This record gives sequence, C-alpha cells and structure tokens, in this order.
Amino acid sequence: LTSCRFDRHVHGKKVLVVTNTTIAPLYLDKVVDALTKGNPNVSVENVILPDGEKYKNMETLMKVFDKAIESRLDRRCTFVALGGGVIGDMCGFAAAAFLRGVNFIQIPTTVMAQVDSSVGGKTGINHPLGKNLIGAFYQPQCVLIDTDTLNTLPDRELASGLAEVIKYGLIRDAEFFEWQEMNMEKLMARDPDAFAYAIKRSCENKAEVVSLDEKESGLRATLNLGHTFGHAIETGFGYGEWLHGEAVAAGTVMAVDMSYRLGWIDSSIMKRVNDILQRAKLPTAPPETMTVEMFKSVMAVDKKVADGLLRLILLKGPLGNCVFTGEYDRKALDDTLSAFCKS
Ligand code: NAD
Repeated sequence: LTSCRFDRHVHGKKVLVVTNTTIAPLYLDKVVDALTKGNPNVSVENVILPDGEKYKNMETLMKVFDKAIESRLDRRCTFVALGGGVIGDMCGFAAAAFLRGVNFIQIPTTVMAQVDSSVGGKTGINHPLGKNLIGAFYQPQCVLIDTDTLNTLPDRELASGLAEVIKYGLIRDAEFFEWQEMNMEKLMARDPDAFAYAIKRSCENKAEVVSLDEKESGLRATLNLGHTFGHAIETGFGYGEWLHGEAVAAGTVMAVDMSYRLGWIDSSIMKRVNDILQRAKLPTAPPETMTVEMFKSVMAVDKKVADGLLRLILLKGPLGNCVFTGEYDRKALDDTLSAFCKS
C-alpha cells in the first residue's frame, strides 16, 4: 500500500476513505500516506463504520453521506473503499448516489473482495427483508490489491474467500482448477506469489464474464454456482453462524451432487470437488440442523426463480463447464436434498 501511486486515479482535491473499526487501525494511515504522497494538494477525510454484515444498511450508508456533506465534498471528489466486501458494496453505492455519482476507488482487503466483490460493479446494501436488494451497477475507476493485507485476515475469512476461487475453476477454467489442486497448500500458507496468481486469474475470469453480461441476463448468473443452496444455508441457519464462502462451499457440493445424479458429470469430478474443499478447510455438507423443508422454502423465493421454475447453476460435461437452467429432472433435486438432510 505504501508504495502505491494514486495521483492518476484521484480526481479533484478531496478524498473520502470509507473503512471500518477493524481495518482503520491496520491500514488507514498507510492509505492516507499513499494518497497524499506526491499529491500534497489532496486532502483526505475518513469515515469509520461499525464492522459487520448487519451494518450494511441504510442507517450506516447515511453516515457516509453525512461525512461527505459536512466535509463539503463536491462532484470532483473521490471515494475510496478500504475493506472487505461489506465496505466495498456500501462505499460503491454511496459513490454511485452522492451528487449522482463521484469517482470511486476500491482497495479490497479480504480474499472474497480481492477475487470477487471488488470486480464487476455490483454495489448496494441490505434491506431487513433481504440481502443486497437496494443498489446500483457502478464501476470503480481502479481496484488496487495488496496481497500483504491478507496477512492480518483471520483463517476462516481466508478460507471463505477461497470458495469463490474454486468456483471459477469449476464453472469455466479447468486449467485454473488443476493449478489450485497443485497449489492449495501454498494458498493456505498465504504464499504471496500463489495468491497473486490466484487473484489475477480469478479477476480475469470474473471480468470476462461481466464484460459479456454486465446486467446479468444469463451468463453472469453462472458466477453463483453453489450460491442457491448456500443462500438457503445462510438464511436457514441465521446469518453470522456460517460465513458466506462456507455456505457456498457446502452449496457447491450439493450442486455437484445433483449434476452427477442427472448424469451430467462423472464421479471423478465429485471426488475432486470434495477433496479440494476439504484441503481448503471448507465444509462439504450443510449443517445437520438443516431440513429439506428449510431448503425448499428459501429456494422458492430465490431471485433466479422465473415463471415458478427454479433455475440452477449445474456442472455439465468435462471439468470447467456449467449450465444455468430450469430444465432438469425435479427428482434429482429432491434426491440431493434428501441425501444431505436428515429430514
Ligand atoms: P467483510 O467485508 O465482512 O469482511 C470480513 C471480516 O474481515 C470483517 O470483520 C472485516 O472487518 C475483516 N477484515 C477485512 N479485511 C481485513 C484484513 N485485511 N485484516 C483483518 N481483518 C480484515 O466480508 P467479505 O467476505 O469480504 O465480503 C462479504 C460481502 O461482500 C457481503 O456483504 C456480500 O454480499 C458482498 N459481496 C459482493 C459481491 C459483489 O459483486 N458486489 C460479490 C460477493 C460478495
């Protein structure tokens, strides 16, 4: 972070760094130094938000606007998101809405944010009735990733982000999946070179998908492999118990199991998915308290239901191929749910 040059990306003279109570003591000073180095005319304000998904809401968003207005920021200012996906989504949405849109830079500090949420331009906040229901598509001017920030990330958060890395291999990049099979121990040991490669390759995959389908009419939905089952786990189990990536990992195993039951993939893919998730210390089954009914009730209101039909991302064919479809034998879904739930 300290050696970064921002002058090309900062517009105007005023910058607002949006971060939280966990990240500010670790990285805020370094970012302020980097923003002002060689750029003495720039003044940097900051707003430090409470930490947690439960604060990704309208009330917290207002704190960003309050600070921006009190600081008399104008249209030429720049908002900088310093943090994980929660800060990135909130700051991005604030940048999209403040004075109808100001310059925006992402400095993601979790694996999840570095490989996924900082790329693609989805921003937003939660509503009490559902996640990410209020937001905007708004692209950052630049995304600056420093893998050193991962050194302070808790182990569970690190593993949770790896679920999304594994996802890219499964849906569209078999060679990347094979690289992960050879390098998972390095990633778990936070080897910076291995991480730099995994992040670069993940961002390339995401950017390619998003550039073909920014507003999610089909292809972009494939980035949600395992997320429909995973979302049911997050909702049924209560947000906060399992991290997003942990729920996605168990959900991926269920989607892969269903693909196998449909006869769309061979059993070796199932085994490889289980193995790699276990090596990443991620769960490979939902919590024991989940029932078939809990899955069905959440899946019935999924955003991917169209005309009463639940469309799912399933693997089909050789490793690295998937489909987004509502055309599958319902019995395979029922069998998968029964296989993973006690009742
Ligand atoms: P998060 O932002 O809550 O970060 C996880 C935890 O790690 C937090 O407590 C945070 O303060 C802490 N942290 C962050 N960086 C740290 C560091 N370097 N050292 C120590 N602690 C650090 O969670 P996340 O997994 O990064 O993001 C999840 C959010 O991202 C969800 O709200 C989800 O909806 C969103 N998301 C958005 C997109 C998108 O396309 N916009 C995609 C995926 C996920």
